[in-house]
Amino acid sequence: MIDYSVARDLVLAAAKALPAELIPLSQALGRTLARDIKAREDIPPFTKATMDGFAVRASDTAAAGPGGPGPVDLEVVADLPAGRLPRKAVGPGQAVRIMTGAPLPAGADAVVMVEDTESRGQAVTVRRKVDPGDNLGLAGEDLRKGETAVERGALIGPAEIGMLAAAGLARVPATRRPRLAVIATGDEIVEPGQPKRRGQIRNSNGPALTAMAAAAGAEASYLGIARDKSASLGARLARAKGADILVLSGGVSVGDYDLVKAGLEEAGVRPVFWRVRIKPGKPVFFGVRGRQLVFGLPGNPTSSMVTFHLFVRPALDRLLGRAATGPVSAKAYLDAAIALKPGRTQFLRGLLTGRGPALMVVPYEDQRSGVLRSMVRGRVLIVVPADVARIEAGGEVEILFMDGF
Ligand code: AMP
Ligand code: MG
Repeated sequence: MIDYSVARDLVLAAAKALPAELIPLSQALGRTLARDIKAREDIPPFTKATMDGFAVRASDTAAAGPGGPGPVDLEVVADLPAGRLPRKAVGPGQAVRIMTGAPLPAGADAVVMVEDTESRGQAVTVRRKVDPGDNLGLAGEDLRKGETAVERGALIGPAEIGMLAAAGLARVPATRRPRLAVIATGDEIVEPGQPKRRGQIRNSNGPALTAMAAAAGAEASYLGIARDKSASLGARLARAKGADILVLSGGVSVGDYDLVKAGLEEAGVRPVFWRVRIKPGKPVFFGVRGRQLVFGLPGNPTSSMVTFHLFVRPALDRLLGRAATGPVSAKAYLDAAIALKPGRTQFLRGLLTGRGPALMVVPYEDQRSGVLRSMVRGRVLIVVPADVARIEAGGEVEILFMDGF
């Protein structure tokens, strides 16, 4: 048996980033950027008004300042809506009526808000002094030409889409989505919607693991249930040949019908590890078949989902070329003492209590590995190192976020 960190490193060592493909920006949400995108011009490309009002020379408005003689009259020489280019410069004693988003005319160095003016025909009275730069958005204030707009390895969210659009990209280089196939195993499990006899249970792992894979950015396909017979497993393993990652649930323990390990090896999977000093999820198996990464997750619903977070997610993130491999970790403080049997690294399903100025966490009340409720309720995994038997309330712990991907 090996430790969690050793097992995780073995998975990461076997996982290599997939190649890039060009995709339309409109389909880039949730994908991973495959290379740095630099601004090809200043963003914004020109200095512009950020208020409706009058473009002026700030020094012309000095008299309207505190202690000054009072309002100033300027001559309005042009009208400038957004999207038009200024044709007239602003000379001393002059102003250009300007709308938000329009380029600042030459000669002007500030905009007076329309609320601080009164205009009559070709004249405007400025009632408040402005300083150079007031009410202007500067060329390049978001990004200078050549600066990196979005970094390689970034998860493309709505803000990244906005930034890539601002940089003018209609198509973006994204890592190919990993193909992930899920096989459930067990003689006792039945698909939702199918008739169920006594002694049978619903297949919850198949749908849950497929959904986790899709949520983590994979192109997930579900290959159904393999029965606890090698022919049934072999047929499904053959169908999973093209997948970058293969995830199986169940059958990796030491029971008489736990055929997954033998079946995988027969199908050409080279074992990397079996059994990790963790709770839940001890019987987890990892192997490789060519470039394919193969995970045999334990059948207990919670164990399968937790081991997906611990091992499959980091592998997926690596294949995606993500800058950081999940799950995201943070420090939190226990809101109640916990006592455990030491010996394995434990991953308690935890709830953020939302009390106090820091992240506060409590374990969900029922940590048994068959209890899927803890995954529905829990938002984080509380990591308790293998050698720890008790942590007092207020003690610091590491947490792993299960959602947010
Ligand atoms: P196994 O790892 O195959 O020994 O299964 C451990 C426990 O998880 C058993 O109680 C199984 O019935 C249950 N189990 C296995 N596969 C699934 C599944 N796909 N959905 C729900 N429970 C499962
Ligand atoms: Mg089984």
